[in-house]
Amino acid sequence: MDAHTDLLLDLNILSRATQKYYDRQLQPFNLTYAQLPVLLMIYEGEGITANQIVNQGQYDKGTVTKNVQKLEAQGYIESSLSRTDKRLRHLYTTDLAKTVIAQIYAIRRDWWNHLMTAIPCGEVPLFLSQTRALVENAIVASNTQSMPLLFYRMERLSARAWPGRLAMVLHVTGCNFRCPGCQQRSRIMLPEDARLLDPGSIREEIDRRSGFVDGIVITGGEPFLQNGLISFLRDLKDKHIPVRIKTNGLFPDPLACCLQEGLVQEVSLEIRNDLRHYAASAGLKSFDPGPLTRSLKLLGNAEISWDAVLEVDDSWFQDSDPGQLAALLADADHIRVINHKRTEQCVDPNLGPMDEHGYRDWKERLEK
Ligand code: SF4
Repeated sequence: MDAHTDLLLDLNILSRATQKYYDRQLQPFNLTYAQLPVLLMIYEGEGITANQIVNQGQYDKGTVTKNVQKLEAQGYIESSLSRTDKRLRHLYTTDLAKTVIAQIYAIRRDWWNHLMTAIPCGEVPLFLSQTRALVENAIVASNTQSMPLLFYRMERLSARAWPGRLAMVLHVTGCNFRCPGCQQRSRIMLPEDARLLDPGSIREEIDRRSGFVDGIVITGGEPFLQNGLISFLRDLKDKHIPVRIKTNGLFPDPLACCLQEGLVQEVSLEIRNDLRHYAASAGLKSFDPGPLTRSLKLLGNAEISWDAVLEVDDSWFQDSDPGQLAALLADADHIRVINHKRTEQCVDPNLGPMDEHGYRDWKERLEK
């Protein structure tokens, strides 16, 4: 699938439109959209229990309890204690419900007709089975705790990503910043239909190439946002594969773990600006320098090589302080200053490069 989708937004719009329609149609019966499936489940399964409704509709218990109580108070349903298990109550529709249920079914049928005019007649069964498959996937995924590592792209061999080494480069998605100058727009605003790489095939590729590459570079987005990163790095350590990681320095705890366990051999720190202008350059409202200074301290005390990269631009560096940054990055082995490039992939496509004179000045004052 190449076309960009926004399934989340579409489902949201569909759900709100459906709710609006049902709430309006059900008003004469003093019923709401939320009550409707519960009422129909009871009518179609007289004697059903609240727990069975929870399971069938994938509801939380509180929602079902609230709707059952309301339907009971309105006189649409009644309940009786189970003869075999005193903790259970069986639910039944009342005669009042039975007098209105035909109209309610007609309302539901009417909404179905409105929606299905969008699907060619012969394709409805296929559409419904695909929708069911989506629902089943959603149920399974919503009950799954851990997220796999989200690899966005793999460069099998790069001579530039790790100076002096031939490296494989793995790009992960997602970032806690939204830097106006970020060139990875589709990586931090991940399209729903983005094709991510399967971690299993990445591991296979690593095994295939372990004799040919001198190391692996992991870059982002922000790699330390990924839940499975540390265990992935431990696997690489077991395979004796050196790792260079690129981070924005906002995750000192996993960084400390990497340094203590020897999971990374080199770190590249992405610096956004001096501390006074950090928030603006990171696309945040405010910036707490605590985690960054902790990371800098960890790196300063670590026995590995690390470098810092700063990208300057024409907007957020007007009165920034190179001296403060030089002091902040005093322990770095290398500092590189690059000038912003205006591209379509940029988060703020209007952001431009710093003028040549200013750029050269920053380079002279910071680079080493
Ligand atoms: S920290 Fe890097 S990856 Fe994250 S938004 Fe900023 S430029 Fe993009």
